[in-house]
Amino acid sequence: MKQLYIDFDGVILDTMSKTYKVLEESGIDKNDYEKVTEYFRNLDWKKLIEETDVINDSINEIKKICASKKFNVYILTHVNSTNEMVQKIKYLHKVLPLVTVVSVPKEIPKTDVVNPSAAILIDDYSGNIKEWQKRLGIGIKFVKEPENGDFPEISHLSEVIDMFNQ
Ligand SMILES: [Mg+2]
Repeated sequence: MKQLYIDFDGVILDTMSKTYKVLEESGIDKNDYEKVTEYFRNLDWKKLIEETDVINDSINEIKKICASKKFNVYILTHVNSTNEMVQKIKYLHKVLPLVTVVSVPKEIPKTDVVNPSAAILIDDYSGNIKEWQKRLGIGIKFVKEPENGDFPEISHLSEVIDMFNQ
């Protein structure tokens, strides 16, 4: 079975659209790294997760992937705070009890925490895909709508099932 890592923000829940909207409304300069980091550290993730929509039926799509028995499925997510990590794990444990969650501190690349070699990463951030490919992993970009960009892309997670033979 292939290792399959699935990103959380922007792939499972649309947390980033929501937080950036609030960030804009709060008047914080998006280029002010310290202020933005501070903002993300202090976010109430319980509330954010409750108020955020699932993207393109991703929870059910992941259940389909698990049922295909083709992959070892992990959620691989960057976190800015312990609160963020705890709330994401609680949520995922409830909706996808059999899936392992790997939390990565924001300061560290995902490729430093798990071994990308021959493993698949589905992520909405091109930077993560590039880094993954550099380390001989298979990167797939998650897009809400087709983009025809530089990377293989999917807009529904279960599309990955037919991309690999075993
Ligand atoms: Mg993301």
